[in-house]
This record gives sequence, structure tokens and C-alpha cells, in this order.
Amino acid sequence: MEGRLTSGHFSRRRFVAGAGAAFTAIAPIAAPSPIRTAVAQSWRAGNPFSLGVASGAPGADGFVLWTRLAPDPLSSNPETPGGMSGADVALRYEIASDPGMTKIVRRGAASAEQAFAYSVHLDVAGLEPGRSYWYRFLAGDAASPAGHAATLPAPGSAPATLRFGFVSCSNYEHGYFSAYRHLTGENPAFVLFLGDYIYETVEQFRPIVRRHSDGVEAATLPTYRNRYAQYRLDPDLQGLHAQVPAIVTWDDHEVQNDYADKWSETFDDPEQFLRRRAAAYQAFYEHMPVRPIISRPNGPVMRVYDRYTLGDLIEISAIDGRQYRSRQACYAPPNKGGGHLETNASCPERLDTGRTMMGFGQEAWLYAGLAHSKARWNLIAQDVLMAQLRRKRDGIDAFWTDDWNGYPANRARLLQHIHDAKVANPVVISGDIHSFFANDLKLDFDDQSSPIVATEFVGSSISSYGPPYDPIARVLPDNPHVHFFDSRRRGYVLVDLTPDAMQVQMRAVSDAHDPKATISTFKTFAVEGGRPGVVAA
Ligand code: FE
Ligand code: CA
Repeated sequence: MEGRLTSGHFSRRRFVAGAGAAFTAIAPIAAPSPIRTAVAQSWRAGNPFSLGVASGAPGADGFVLWTRLAPDPLSSNPETPGGMSGADVALRYEIASDPGMTKIVRRGAASAEQAFAYSVHLDVAGLEPGRSYWYRFLAGDAASPAGHAATLPAPGSAPATLRFGFVSCSNYEHGYFSAYRHLTGENPAFVLFLGDYIYETVEQFRPIVRRHSDGVEAATLPTYRNRYAQYRLDPDLQGLHAQVPAIVTWDDHEVQNDYADKWSETFDDPEQFLRRRAAAYQAFYEHMPVRPIISRPNGPVMRVYDRYTLGDLIEISAIDGRQYRSRQACYAPPNKGGGHLETNASCPERLDTGRTMMGFGQEAWLYAGLAHSKARWNLIAQDVLMAQLRRKRDGIDAFWTDDWNGYPANRARLLQHIHDAKVANPVVISGDIHSFFANDLKLDFDDQSSPIVATEFVGSSISSYGPPYDPIARVLPDNPHVHFFDSRRRGYVLVDLTPDAMQVQMRAVSDAHDPKATISTFKTFAVEGGRPGVVAA
């Protein structure tokens, strides 16, 4: 268990064997079998590694290596996902200590699982902490591109610096993924995906630069699979995954806009919606470098939340804000599905302390982890805006019911716990709202004298259109804990961390409609160690 994720009630035994099972040379494919015959034929028809490779879920002694065999990645035949058919396919893999893949440190066998669209989730252990590795997969006569992976710093070590990025909301139809390309070029240790990695929708009204290829709202396993495949064919996203380890959680659009647990935005029968959720979660699993031991889906249930510890420098809790949440307050047909603005008078239910965004089980897991953390910094990576945002409905103060403003009791429990447990340097990072924000998180947002207990940064969107600027800019005087807001630029956030300070650069692309967009720093902030809250940098 040493050094890997600290969360576990799970057996740490990996299905990947260690050095004892390593190949000394790449064995030629043995006697033909029906499976391998089918594979060899399909390779002649296309590149089985069309969707690239990815590494993720890093630990101090390993990581997950991902690929998915898809010689026909956007196959319209639901019986042959990615153009594949037949039983599981045997692959081999190589891990090297150099980018040229000349110093092989591990070779072994892996399996592309028919049940999961011929994806591979290779959970590797037993490597050295705090260093880079390079890897590739081999299937028949085909080799994948080489990817880069890295182990986390050893437990008890004291990293002097760390650079990472966080991203959210990449709508393929709304723009190109230049932001992903530029983030790759910044050489972050890892990238945190905070949700809306795909959009299930088809844009009806606003300008688009390219189409979701099947032209339908994703709602079934084949249509979700095609969405992920299309996104992964994008060279900027594929390039990011090949070079930068990923830590992932999700938001709503991986399933349906503004869903909550088994509650659809569109008032679907919950049993029917759970079948849709199961398909969406399975497609997410099939395309993400997540640990099978934690995340392999079971019907509509899939765990994505987890904890990552980087020596004494930082502990990251990546949490799930969708699967376990209470239904949005004052959710009622015919027109109040999903998020809406409610006043205290119109919706007292919003304030009910029995409501939760995280689910009480995940809340307990997070609070215990934060209380036990020995890290200098504690990052909570999650999907939606946490700071209070007092808005207006017909001139009266109102709150959006889909983000943390719809779950103020859960927010208060979390911030009270951070305060009481004296959690060191807590920082929350968020997505969903397609805007940059820099916020102080206060124990009581309505009391000027209340202490600041944590800091929040929100990372705009990779390409999704932002909300209208003026209505939110107008209410900023009612929200003095919001230091910065802008919804007019697309991009990501780059964080440079030392034991003493966090530097935060909001990076914006010149134009998300330009596939060759350039990048620049739009705004810079900092957090000083030992002093929660946003400071100018
Ligand atoms: Fe979004
Ligand atoms: Ca969202």
C-alpha cells in the first residue's frame, strides 16, 4: 500500500504482474486463433491505436496506462465498437526510462477488454517514485505512439516545486482545442480534468466550428462511445494525453446537462435515466486512464473520487459532485429541472440542512482525509463554483440551484470542517461556469468579519461559450469575496507551487474559433502559505 493512493479500502494487488512475469524479448504472436485472425484483418483496415494513449491516476510507485483498440473509431455499427469484434485481445506493453524507449524497464502483457469497447486499463506498480517514464502498446504488427507517464513524489519527500494545470468544459462544436495544445507545451506534472470533458448535446443555436459527427444527443452506449472517440481524435487533446498524466473527475455533460444522481434535467423516469447514466459512465470509464480497481463501473455506479498525495507538498482530493447529490432544490415540472435562480422566499428548500451535493458518504470520506492530511497544501478538485454568488431575480437576491449555491448546507459543513480541523492551505479548484473566478471562501459569506478559510480558482472553459458577462459583473458588488470574474475568455489555469506560495496564471487563447490560436497570461494571482485568500501577484 505504501506510497500509492492513501484512500484505500481496496486490495492493492495489481492484475499486472511485476518483474517476474516480464518478457525478455517481444514474443512473436503464437499460433493463430480466431481472435487473432480477426485482429490481423482489422489492422489492415485501419490503425488500432487511432485514439492514442494516456496515463493517469498516478501514485508514488505507478500509474494507469490507457489505450483503446479502434481501427474504425467512429464506427456506426453498435455491434462492433471502434470496428472491433470478438473476444478480449492480448496486447503487450513496454515501459522505458527514456523518451526514445531504448532503456526498457518493464515489459508485459495486457488485455483489451471486449466488455469495455476493447479499452486497456493497465495498472502498473513497483516503479520508482517521482520520475518520468515512457511507454507504448504493441498489438499484432501495430505499435502505439509512445506516451509519457510519471510517478508521484515519494511519501515523506519534500518537493521544492510543482507545476500543474486544470481544465474543464471542452465543447467540440464550440471551438478548437488549442488550449489543450498550449497546456501540453507548459510541461505540467499533471492535468486535472474537472468535468464537461465531452458534451452530450448537439448545438442548436449558437455558432459552431465543427460538428458532433453523428448529429444526435448522446444517450446510449454507442453514442457516448462515439462522442469520446471523436474528442480523442482531436490532435490537441490526443497530444495532451500522450504527454501529460491525467487526474479526472466529471461534471454533468458526461451524462446529461444538470443531472443530479438519478434525476434527469428532463424529468425522465429515474429507472430509465439510471440506464442512460450507466451507459455514460461506462463510456467514460472506457476512455479514461482511471484505476480499474476503483473505477470499473457496476451498472449506474462508478467511483471517480480519489486522493493523491505528493510527498509533503500537496494532497489532492478529486471529488464527484454529481453521482450522489440531492436533487436540485425546488425541482418541479414543468419548467424547473436542472439549475434555476431561486430567492429565499421562493425556495426555502435550498437551505435544508438534509441536502447534500457530495452525498454523506463522500462528505465523510473527504472530511476524514482533510483532517488526516499532513501535506503543506490541500487541494479540492471538483466540478462547480463553490463561492456564494448572490445574483438577482426580478430585482431580488437569488441563487443558482445547480452549483454550490444550491447546496449551501453542504458548503457550510465543508468550510466549517476546514476551519475546525485547521486544514493547511486549502484551495478549491472548479469548472462548469465557463468563466475565470478568483474567490475567497468565507466561513459565513454574509458576514464581513467572518474569517476566510480557503481560496477558490475557477478555470474558464477550453472552448465552451461563456455566460453573458454583464449580468454577473453587475452583481459583483454584492459579492465582495469575489476578487475576479471574467466569462469572455477561453483557456485554463496553470499553477506553480512551492511550500510557501501558490502562483496561479489564468491562461487564455487568442480565439477558440482559430485552430492555430496563441496563448497568453490573462491574469495572475497568488496564495501565500499560512494565509488563505486571493492576493495579487
Ligand atoms: Fe461546461
Ligand atoms: Ca457543467
